Amino acid sequence: MLFRKKKETNEVRRRIILTKQITDSVITYAKSCHPNEGILILQGKKEKNLIKVTGLIIPPFSTHGPYYSGFPVYQLPFDLSYIGTIHSHPSRSNNPSLEDLNHFFGLVSLIICYPYDVEDIAAFDRNGNKMDIEIG
Ligand SMILES: [Zn+2]
Repeated sequence: MLFRKKKETNEVRRRIILTKQITDSVITYAKSCHPNEGILILQGKKEKNLIKVTGLIIPPFSTHGPYYSGFPVYQLPFDLSYIGTIHSHPSRSNNPSLEDLNHFFGLVSLIICYPYDVEDIAAFDRNGNKMDIEIG
């Protein structure tokens, strides 16, 4: 007998789609920042429960460090195409830290951890729930 995992209450699980090109750029950027964290803004659009990432932006005034990278959100122009961020973890964990959840921006937070391969990318919503990632 098969048991399905219980669905999260109220909320339908969202999926995020990354193009191959975006994925490659993110990997290259994360590697270039290592051993520090790097952070990029995701541009994209939301269609029902699907979030498509269409571009990456280097945030102005970003700070880099081995444990935290961020940028002052108030410095950003108001732009509806900004749907979230991706940042790197020089560790082998792509789970969001408390700091990450406190600095959540937009709809999705992507985290890529060392050694920065496609499988090292994870996506989370504002509540720290994992989202499915599709690369295509
Ligand atoms: Zn983090």
